[in-house]
Amino acid sequence: MPELPLKSLLGQSEVSAFLRRIVAAGRYGNAYLFHGPAGVGKGTAALAFARAALCERVAGGRPSAPREDDLFGGAPPTAPDAPADDACGACAGCRKAALLLHPDLHFLFPVSGEERELDKTIADTLQAMRDDPLFVFQYEKAASIRLYQTRQLLQEMAYKPYEAARRVVVIRDCDRMREDQYSALLKSIEEPGAATVWVLTTARLSRVPATIRSRCQRVRFAPLPEPLVQDFLRERAQAADAEARMLAALSGGSLARALVLRGAGALEQRNAALAMLAPGLRGDAEGLWKAAQGATKFGKAGRETLRRAIEFHQLWLRDLLRARYGAPRELLVNRDKEAEIRQLAERIDATEARRRLMVLEEALRALDGNVTADLSLFSALARVAGQRLGEGAWPAHASPRWDY
Ligand SMILES: [Zn+2]
Repeated sequence: MPELPLKSLLGQSEVSAFLRRIVAAGRYGNAYLFHGPAGVGKGTAALAFARAALCERVAGGRPSAPREDDLFGGAPPTAPDAPADDACGACAGCRKAALLLHPDLHFLFPVSGEERELDKTIADTLQAMRDDPLFVFQYEKAASIRLYQTRQLLQEMAYKPYEAARRVVVIRDCDRMREDQYSALLKSIEEPGAATVWVLTTARLSRVPATIRSRCQRVRFAPLPEPLVQDFLRERAQAADAEARMLAALSGGSLARALVLRGAGALEQRNAALAMLAPGLRGDAEGLWKAAQGATKFGKAGRETLRRAIEFHQLWLRDLLRARYGAPRELLVNRDKEAEIRQLAERIDATEARRRLMVLEEALRALDGNVTADLSLFSALARVAGQRLGEGAWPAHASPRWDY
């Protein structure tokens, strides 16, 4: 369960300061749109912001009506030791919000599966979030925010907030909604003086309709710096040093991506990807072709596996180039293979290494387009090998260029 307070948002100090100013002033806009790459903490920030907005000790967190037990008729509920710009983490509101059980916190996220099992699917996901502090949302391609979810939400909107001064609606990956859902929500978002704060998140800003975008205050999230991802993996996810470095390098600044890669055994995958070239190093052309074909036999996940294999090769080549120009050990991603890298770096032709990097980059782009996994691998291998391959015809001799 990501229970970070606003002040501890990883690598997003500007966003954190901006949100805390809102909390401290107690003046919330109608709607915020958190946008930026996947896995950089938008969802975590949205829930932290929601908790702060629902905290009973933060000024304005509770309805201002005098409390019966208060002798002086409605002194501010701010406790002297509570932060004025963040959730206190201790009051009843904070505790309920942390468990995602606060009646004034509505949290919608994309789901997939059968309509009649939605209640269970949603409850299971919420439970998984509570149980796992490093829970990562992963969607199937068809996952969406269902009509059922938005309809329920809109029914709730007819009532006043139950306990807090306001209601907070967090919609994760709001780009996974249908047009008619957006228009239904739009009315509520626009309602002046409404006691509801909307927080929408998206990694695909262009897919959010302009009508929604224009009514939200946008909050931009940047990719996380690599060292920060590394530290997080080591300290919070107990990753070993070599693994953390590798995952951070592959993460593209996305913590979620690093954690998913870790679940997939990134170090083993790297070894497998690099081993693919071993037959080529021995001059065993047939073996090389077999290994290449084997790599594409991963069924549905083939594309992702191939993408990773290519990325591992890119990191390896970059390390070779760095080593060639005398980069210190700390700058190598594959530090666990430093001796091998240093040895190969003495022999490698830098121009050739750069050419290979470009070919691999093109192969990645081809994968993003609609080229099949087999075809891009075939073409990338052929071009890295520096020869045109006919269908089924691997060159009689492994190219001498297969030497990294
Ligand atoms: Zn609190």
